[in-house]
Amino acid sequence: ASTIARPGTGAHTSVLLETVGSRHDPPSPSLHAPSAPPAVAARGLTITDSEGRDYIDACGGAAVSCLGHGHRDVIAALHEQADTLAYAHTGFFTTEAAERLGDRLVADAPEGIGHAYLVSGGSEAVEAALKLARQYATERGEDGRRHVIARRQSYHGNTLGALATGGNEWRRAQFKPLLMETHHIAPCFAYREQREAESDADYAARAAGELETKIQELGPETVLAFVAEPVVGATAGAVPPVGDYFRRIQEICDRHGVLLVLDEVMCGMGRTGTLHACEQEGISPDLMTVAKGLGGGYQPIGAVLLSERIYDAISNGSGFFQHGHTYMGHPMAAAAALAVQEVIARDDLLANVREMGAHLRARLKETFGRHAHVGDVRGRGLFQAIELVADRETKDPFDPALKLHARIKAAAMERGLMVYPMGGTIDGARGDHVLLAPPFIVEREDIDRIVERLAEAVDAGLGEVA
Ligand code: PLP
Repeated sequence: ASTIARPGTGAHTSVLLETVGSRHDPPSPSLHAPSAPPAVAARGLTITDSEGRDYIDACGGAAVSCLGHGHRDVIAALHEQADTLAYAHTGFFTTEAAERLGDRLVADAPEGIGHAYLVSGGSEAVEAALKLARQYATERGEDGRRHVIARRQSYHGNTLGALATGGNEWRRAQFKPLLMETHHIAPCFAYREQREAESDADYAARAAGELETKIQELGPETVLAFVAEPVVGATAGAVPPVGDYFRRIQEICDRHGVLLVLDEVMCGMGRTGTLHACEQEGISPDLMTVAKGLGGGYQPIGAVLLSERIYDAISNGSGFFQHGHTYMGHPMAAAAALAVQEVIARDDLLANVREMGAHLRARLKETFGRHAHVGDVRGRGLFQAIELVADRETKDPFDPALKLHARIKAAAMERGLMVYPMGGTIDGARGDHVLLAPPFIVEREDIDRIVERLAEAVDAGLGEVA
């Protein structure tokens, strides 16, 4: 196996082409990324590399490992499923594992959600949600509805439809000619966009008002869906909405017959302290995507949760959703996700997310609240981030070319800590930030250790650029 890196993008910042396999034995060392050591074992919060070094997984990889690593109950469920039935194509059979997971997801979903569609990850879930939205419109004879509106500073996946929907310019830039047309409005991002002396209520109204304006501009009868992450993850770093922003968004969508699609791939499945992040907004979407924490990393799995009215329109209409992937509803993936979700409920881990989330936030505030280069500490539950700035007063970010986030990640890895970093933008729409999303089993002492190591890594990274 080899991890191929394209060197030359600066200290600790090799750009990865994470292929495996090589015709050369041993593989040319110049092709290996210095920042990607081979992981050989993992238990609880710790991943161990081939040199025997331990890393605290303070970000669940990419907010995936919600139960930590090596959980015996999940491993037992996987063994049993593998022993009983590893795979049966959904074109021929349903399986007990998929049915039980679906029942559980629907029972715990926001009001109005009546069905679950199982896929293999977040991008697949977003693609399926977009197509379900479009098919809902065509089944109702609303063929003119085709425009998708989303927000800048968002990420919805790397497949072409999901990439087109996201507003992460860095990820989209070179693929733009291949992307379907989408429309982006401002995010609800208080630290960067709320005006001085503007109340939360006024800011929420102004930010949500952008959706109304965009719908009017495009023509309400042409708009299919609005897609948003309730708490923004990878692109802007754990940005929660303000006030009644999402209630206003839902009202605007409902008034114009525009479907509300919430992407909870990163912020959902308990990460923010409630099973779904949108519960805290008091809203219920037409379509919702989940993945990452659904299977906790034990298997690749995602799901689209869909409202009764979307399901009914399709089942009473053509009766066939023109979609499908070979591995959808995979019984091994469903069995793992079911076990993960059962353990979270049995051990009341969402209570721990809320309690430890509050502790993490308090420790981050204590440590970075007055730091000269930390402009914001934000997040919900065990989904917290710090944003780095060159100047706290002006909120000017560091020059993105310095790749401060990558330096902090490397400094953290040197100290045995995994954090999830993201760079700033050239236009200063956000600075570099570091996202923390530790497993739900995290304890007080783990959090103290995480924040201590992060403080050292931040100062080491800053030391290289200041
Ligand atoms: N949507 C959101 C909000 C995400 O954060 C991600 C991944 O980070 C995706 C979709 C894509 O998920 P995946 O990487 O499983 O395809």
